[in-house]
Amino acid sequence: MSEAIENLNIKKLGFGLMRPPMIEGEVDVEQVKKMVDTYMSKGFSYFDTAYVYLGGKSEELLKEAVVKRYPRESFQTADKLPIWGECNSYEDMERIFHESLQRTGLSFFDFYLLHSLDQENYRKTEKLKAWDFVADLKKQGKVSHMGFSFHDNAELLDEILTAHPEAEFVQLQINYVDWENDVVQSRKCYEVARKHNKPIIIMEPIRGGALAEMTPDIQTLFKEVNPDASIASWAMRYAASLEGVLTVLSGMSDREQMEDNCSYLENFEPLSEREYQTIGKAVDILNSLPTIPCTACQYCVDGCPMNINIPGIFDVANFRTRYNNLAISQKRYTGVIAERGAAADCIACGACESHCPQHIAIIDELSEITKLFA
Ligand code: SF4
Ligand code: SF4
Repeated sequence: MSEAIENLNIKKLGFGLMRPPMIEGEVDVEQVKKMVDTYMSKGFSYFDTAYVYLGGKSEELLKEAVVKRYPRESFQTADKLPIWGECNSYEDMERIFHESLQRTGLSFFDFYLLHSLDQENYRKTEKLKAWDFVADLKKQGKVSHMGFSFHDNAELLDEILTAHPEAEFVQLQINYVDWENDVVQSRKCYEVARKHNKPIIIMEPIRGGALAEMTPDIQTLFKEVNPDASIASWAMRYAASLEGVLTVLSGMSDREQMEDNCSYLENFEPLSEREYQTIGKAVDILNSLPTIPCTACQYCVDGCPMNINIPGIFDVANFRTRYNNLAISQKRYTGVIAERGAAADCIACGACESHCPQHIAIIDELSEITKLFA
């Protein structure tokens, strides 16, 4: 029988392998190895990947940078079953699971998640009996703990956790900007998970990097309270300070981010009352800015017939909104569309919008963006 999740002593920083450093379109494995060494040397041990990340290269990266280099008992792994797209039968789930084992070089996953449940994906898990499938894997010792990642409202989360008490944990999008957001519902989802006594893994604590930058006035606000803390550290510590959080995932893209995260999460101190108040003021300022709530998850990208880098374009548009720096924004936009479709190339086919966990009106946003950039 697997050990209770609460007894695993997982520290508050999970290494997300969704956005690793890249060189010319390929994962920079050597740099990731160095990042893993730093991470492990500080007592951290949780690695998060998924079948769909980087078309399978994220799972292979886990094998190269971790599985081949560290004893199995020194780390935990989380992998995920995508229930959408071509996953349409029990046999498909088996195939995907075994492919994940093969790519990672593992014989079992410590944590296995039904990936990105929303209304549509949840109904499909029921149809395919995906819950029984993962429960069977657990009985066979191929999975230690079963759970799911979630991108919908608190009502659906309550429905799922009530119908499936076998879910041992839940992965939620929580950050200080989305805490009271009506679509993401971070606070409400958090409260539902707590009501069901489920340990919580936090994803998108920095909102795909957005909370690492900020407007100059918010930066000043943070620096006045803690001059040495990075802007990203406020978001990471906000997530890690919540009760019942098992770990906070960070998709670290370079050694600097890794070292920064480790510096305040190695011997973690929860936020003080004054720090909470400072974040409250920052959120008030941010809420007054009309940015697009894209987390750069990439789920919308694969099906686009015009090869539009939707999250890249949204990132540039948000940068322009936050900093109002037209010259740099235009330069970044030109870079983003260099070998890809531009916002103006969108043919409004709609293939992207149903995949967006943030329910962004992608077509309308792209149409607006065409008016901003040449
Ligand atoms: S609606 Fe536009 S952005 Fe979305 S998939 Fe179609 S062409 Fe691409
Ligand atoms: S637009 Fe939506 S699906 Fe696409 S990257 Fe952003 S959050 Fe993800």
